[in-house]
Amino acid sequence: MALAVCVVVRYRKAVTYGVHALLAALETAKVEHELRLGTTPEETAEHIKATTADRVITLWSFYSPDAEAMAAELATVKQLSDGRGLHIAGGVHATAEPQQVIDAGWDLAGIGEGESTIISLVRALQDDAPLTSVPGLAIRDSDGVALRTRPAPQLPLDAFPSFVGRHGPIEITRGCRYTCRFCQTPFMFGGQFRHRSVASVREHVRSMVDRGLRDVRFITPTSLSYGSPGPDPDLDKVEELLAGVKEELPPHGRVFFGSFPSEVRPEHVTPEAMRLLKRYVANDNIIIGAQSGSDKVLAASGRGHGTSPVRDAVRIAVEHGFRPNVDFIFGMPGESPEDQAQSLALAGELADMGARIHTHTFMPLPGTPWRDAEPAFIPLSTMSELDRLAQRGDAYGHWRKQAEHAARLAETAKAYPRRTKRRRTS
Ligand code: SF4
Repeated sequence: MALAVCVVVRYRKAVTYGVHALLAALETAKVEHELRLGTTPEETAEHIKATTADRVITLWSFYSPDAEAMAAELATVKQLSDGRGLHIAGGVHATAEPQQVIDAGWDLAGIGEGESTIISLVRALQDDAPLTSVPGLAIRDSDGVALRTRPAPQLPLDAFPSFVGRHGPIEITRGCRYTCRFCQTPFMFGGQFRHRSVASVREHVRSMVDRGLRDVRFITPTSLSYGSPGPDPDLDKVEELLAGVKEELPPHGRVFFGSFPSEVRPEHVTPEAMRLLKRYVANDNIIIGAQSGSDKVLAASGRGHGTSPVRDAVRIAVEHGFRPNVDFIFGMPGESPEDQAQSLALAGELADMGARIHTHTFMPLPGTPWRDAEPAFIPLSTMSELDRLAQRGDAYGHWRKQAEHAARLAETAKAYPRRTKRRRTS
């Protein structure tokens, strides 16, 4: 007889989309389990202690900058729950640094996309089968080394829904064909786009409408790439998507596209694309990734566009009634004082055109080609200029906090040199 399994989730607002996808996978595959959501460390520990299930697995997911804080929470939860059950860390940080999360106290790290892994993991616990049979895991061995099982497959996006019985943005595209050296997306989800079909998106929207919801948002690395395999947008596909969603919505329903939690690439912002969006979307802003005002830095970062399309994109977006929110990253590796001056100048120019600048500090994120790269120094003069833009209401962002994260990530990267202690289970 199968053992009863309780899945406890350390449920945090920052990671609900990914967690909802995992829970949806368990629902879709009809895997029997008890589910408990802990919104605080204390509540999580209470759930672990309270369940009468035979096996307890607690799911954690976090981004790299939160890894340290989550490790401290894990210690608290383990102590409060008398060390009961297993704890697994998933998401992009665990995928990139499995040894680090195992050393920090998790029993398992989920590597890559979690849907197939969570299904196999819960089934293995039910059957009391060895966890080495579960794909997409790193498992602590007796020496404390993170041993990897076979990789989890990267399935078509329609294989699993974005959510079941919950709601949130619908993931319409996973993976990214671009190769920005600071970004974890291609590393985590692969270097090709996988698009959800319009039929599947419409099904999500119908379930939302049934629950009385009227606003639809999307998750995608680059909104206007929807339906396209390559660098050029396929606006017919985008229109099929937006028209299909509108058809499912009541008259007061709203579609948000190219705005939070997604963005558009600057070279995709054309008059045709903006006219199309205007016909369907409710957002008054779009998010454009510019990243730098230096063509040299853009080339080094592998962005695949220069500064000129950024200016064009902001002008075109404003002409079509959108307020552009434009992402900039300061302190990218190799960025000279001249490059920073060019970024500040472009940021000011775009703000004068009507854009708001979303400022970021470069973080050497695990899994990216720039994991071990030295962030460029950001002098006081640059910081003062960013503050001045913010005071004028032309800039926003957590760039000071990110500078602290960057310093911590660089320290951790030194402690965990790339490609060490990686062995596979047989
Ligand atoms: S920054 Fe955007 S376009 Fe570049 S690789 Fe990441 S998701 Fe793709």
